[in-house]
Amino acid sequence: MLISLVVPCYNEEESLPLFYKEAARVAGEMKASHGADFEFIFVDDGSKDGTLTVARRLHEDDARVRYVSFSRNFGKEAGIYAGLKAAKGDYVAMLDADLQDPPSLLPAMLDTLLSGEYDCAATRRTTRKGEPPIRSFFARMFYRIINKMSKTEIVDGARDFRLMSRPMVDAVLQVTEYNRFSKGIFGWVGFRTKWFEYENVERVAGQTKWNFWKLFLYSIEGIVGFSTAPLAIAALVGVLFCLAAFVGILFILIRYALGWQDPVAGWQSMTCIILLCSGVQLFCTGILGEYLAKTYLEVKHRPLYVVKETEENQSIR
Ligand code: UDP
Ligand code: MG
Repeated sequence: MLISLVVPCYNEEESLPLFYKEAARVAGEMKASHGADFEFIFVDDGSKDGTLTVARRLHEDDARVRYVSFSRNFGKEAGIYAGLKAAKGDYVAMLDADLQDPPSLLPAMLDTLLSGEYDCAATRRTTRKGEPPIRSFFARMFYRIINKMSKTEIVDGARDFRLMSRPMVDAVLQVTEYNRFSKGIFGWVGFRTKWFEYENVERVAGQTKWNFWKLFLYSIEGIVGFSTAPLAIAALVGVLFCLAAFVGILFILIRYALGWQDPVAGWQSMTCIILLCSGVQLFCTGILGEYLAKTYLEVKHRPLYVVKETEENQSIR
């Protein structure tokens, strides 16, 4: 039985050795308890620091360590895909390099899969300790909105940290879309998933790669990728505005027929109405544009990432 640990790394030179140490400790324990062999796949997502050097060194010291290095930063989603593709294990886990996903949960997660009832052991945080409150607030709101809009279940607080069986990994690999939103893809492929809960852990070293703006764009990615509800909402708003206009016309006609006087020439209210209507139009066009842009990126069929170096194919230095 081989277990692959896939670790996307972007500027993680400080965390990586700490991660390796902890993962190797857990691997040793699980060799004894479950007879499991391990491979560690570090995906260097175009890091600007010494992450690649650390990965090379770890590979030289321990043949279980493999790595894939991208030609530039392609984002965590591409890193996950590359890692899953490289993984040869019967079971594959994904973890962050910063030890926010404790490898010590792996034995319990593996037991769940070995019981044969589940194909996936996933984790979610029950607290968001150490996170700015405003970020937690918007995160909660995002999950509420997306779950209303999308048929795919996207669990609040779900981490990307999960252990999957080979059939599920193969299913995820078949989803080759360019605009990737993993939390949605894992839900979309189905399979029985058991959730493990744990309290938020803060990263061991280095800094988070996500700022508020990046998270905001990522949430749009999630909504556009897993729901077409905004398009329907845009159409509905259009219909409502037409109805309002119709009621307005009726009002004017009736007033004219009854011979009532027009009190004031209401140019101010007219301006407001024009502004509101054109604003709504632009907003709806924007929603349309968002879907069009995603379609455009999708039909180009660009590769998800470009590999510069792997442990089997070390570039000449
Ligand atoms: N990561 C990556 N590419 C990126 C950004 C992040 O591979 O462009 C990796 C990063 O090295 C880490 C994981 O994704 O292993 C999670 O990132 P981070 O800890 O910064 O996110 P947070 O835990 O703060 O949400
Ligand atoms: Mg982190």
